Amino acid sequence: MTPVDVAGKVVVITGASRGLGAGMAAHLAAGGALLGLCARSEPSAPAGALSRAVDVTDAAALAAFTVEVADAFGPIDLWVGNAGVLEPIGPLRDADPAAFATNVTVNVAGVANGAIAYLRHRHAVGGGGALVNISSGAGGSPYRGWAAYCASKAAVDMLTRVIAAEETGSGTRVLAVAPGVVDTDMQALIRSTPADDFPDVERFNELRRTDSFNSPAWVAEQVVRVALGPDVPDDVVVRIPDEPRD
Ligand code: NAP
Repeated sequence: MTPVDVAGKVVVITGASRGLGAGMAAHLAAGGALLGLCARSEPSAPAGALSRAVDVTDAAALAAFTVEVADAFGPIDLWVGNAGVLEPIGPLRDADPAAFATNVTVNVAGVANGAIAYLRHRHAVGGGGALVNISSGAGGSPYRGWAAYCASKAAVDMLTRVIAAEETGSGTRVLAVAPGVVDTDMQALIRSTPADDFPDVERFNELRRTDSFNSPAWVAEQVVRVALGPDVPDDVVVRIPDEPRD
């Protein structure tokens, strides 16, 4: 399938200091996209990108970042709400309630803050563009030990469905995208978790042994295809297929 040309497209990625966000940024920069990148620690950006230290839980900072990106590059074609956290891990009965609340604040309120900033921007420029919130298969499957993460990703899916319904007619494509398994710090954290806290850990160790991951470049291509390509996905919640192996 021919990749969608991103040359000159303005793309924001939150959580772009490492992992999937940084990998997608590198791939899109190589394709000529104009990037606005943020994370709590300022991403070391590809040449030409605008990079800022912004916490997605700080709605005002995210709104100011959005204006800065648009002033620098023009209307933002694609917003990727990628910043997310996994912890706390372990049975819910052992969870620190404050840690649970932090997960939901970052993964749900943080994604909503990005959506608010982006949708206000798009409405100001006459609609259009695309919003992709990075979800997870964990939003649709219960994993023991991941109560906060599963609940927050399920919330991302429903948040995105509501936004998609609200934005019908605005010309803005709105999707939640589960990227599959990507070998990042988050995966390293998963593999380092004792089975008492995460009983499915062996499944993730096996993925590492067999190197069965989606690369950030593959995820970036699929995100751009569903967000900016000619075919609108049938459902708001999209699961990226496994990357073909040679
Ligand atoms: P990661 O390696 O832990 O990276 C997470 C990124 O989010 C970092 O850049 C981090 O940077 C940023 N971040 C965390 N909290 C933030 C906040 N409050 N404000 C702004 N940025 C913040 O995780 P990843 O594996 O790349 O995951 C990226 C996304 O993909 C997440 O939404 C995750 O749930 C989803 N996902 C990943 C996988 C996988 O297999 N890796 C599978 C399904 C879904 P700072 O620490 O500098 O803020």
